[in-house]
Amino acid sequence: MVRNSSVAIDGWTAAGKTTVAKQLASALNFLYLDTGAMYRAVAYLALRNGVDLDNERSLVAMLAQHHISIVADAERTAGYRVVIDHRDTGERLFDPDVAAAVSTVAALPAIRAELVERQRAIAAQGPVVMAGRDIGTVVLPDARHKFFLTASVDERARRRRAEFAARGLDVPFEEVRAQIAERDRLDSTRAVSPLRVADDAITIDSTDLQPAEVVVAMRAAMDAARA
Ligand code: C5P
Repeated sequence: MVRNSSVAIDGWTAAGKTTVAKQLASALNFLYLDTGAMYRAVAYLALRNGVDLDNERSLVAMLAQHHISIVADAERTAGYRVVIDHRDTGERLFDPDVAAAVSTVAALPAIRAELVERQRAIAAQGPVVMAGRDIGTVVLPDARHKFFLTASVDERARRRRAEFAARGLDVPFEEVRAQIAERDRLDSTRAVSPLRVADDAITIDSTDLQPAEVVVAMRAAMDAARA
């Protein structure tokens, strides 16, 4: 199999993929794409337009009517901004209502097919660090390096709650934890492209690691693979 030099980072909700992928892409001078942003954009548009979250046909039609772009932006926590119809969505895609809706739209085959196509088109532009749930298994099965990021559900809930707090949103710990556990369940049990560890992925448990330490571990694994 010919492998491209891209890096796939999959893992559980709030395991730190975005931060790590952003830092790794910057260190390697690769493109960076957080595919979760695309699914969040669809969920956000569905909520805004009042489209049922499981109405696949209407959601696909809705998607065709909007222009979504993900623009690198080092000033943002996520490392990018999502622009829909020339309007910056700010932090809106990270609000709890979008988080609660996203796994439902992400389970729809036609939505996945459309977004996977867009993700592969971006990867075709050059080496990329791509984060998501199905990157190593479905989107870029020939990626040279694949990582699967995990962390305890309590730690992930603590991190997500701190992110909300930084934005002035006080969401109870139990609520954040329950929402993360529910997204884990939906993402790993859906029929199409369920979250699973690619056979050739290296799993990293980030429960007790800082993002920079995860990046160091990844680079060491990449160097070892090249040697
Ligand atoms: O990574 P993030 O939390 O932003 O992803 C939001 C949701 O988008 C996930 O919970 C999952 O339902 C969906 N997703 C997906 N496949 C991807 C990326 C995200 O199904 N490659």
